[in-house]
Amino acid sequence: MQIGENKVVSIHYTLTDNEQNVLDTSSGGSPLYYIHGIGALIVGMEEGLLGKTAGTKLMLKVAPEKGYGAYEPELVQHVPLTAFGAQEVKPGMQFDAGSDEQRFIVTVKEVGAEVVIIDGNHPLAGVELNFEIEIMAVRNASEEELAHGHVHGLNGHHH
Ligand code: ZN
Repeated sequence: MQIGENKVVSIHYTLTDNEQNVLDTSSGGSPLYYIHGIGALIVGMEEGLLGKTAGTKLMLKVAPEKGYGAYEPELVQHVPLTAFGAQEVKPGMQFDAGSDEQRFIVTVKEVGAEVVIIDGNHPLAGVELNFEIEIMAVRNASEEELAHGHVHGLNGHHH
């Protein structure tokens, strides 16, 4: 069975940047399960996996435009330290500044005496992504899974 619209796909993957730093991996854990074609994965990954079958191993190089987007300097903002109230603020801390509809994570870059510099870019924005992928299984999604927009069963959602 080939990967396409509305297939449940499980993959093992390792993600590295161009300096061979491992950014994320499923190695040693459960494979990643997802429904193809509903925007669960970044565009570059779904494009690279389309039409492939279980057992296939592949390398995918994904440009930022088909990954987590280009780095946008205007998403770096200066915020008064007082905006954080009594909360301690340190570089590297992340805050959820989004709503239920759209998650929007900002990362603290620098903390000055009066001003905090925050960055609304995804941590992987502007990064070329290198995926080493092994396709473990491909099956049809059930109607219930399609209605819910997620995978059920082992390694999926439990209700
Ligand atoms: Zn469900």
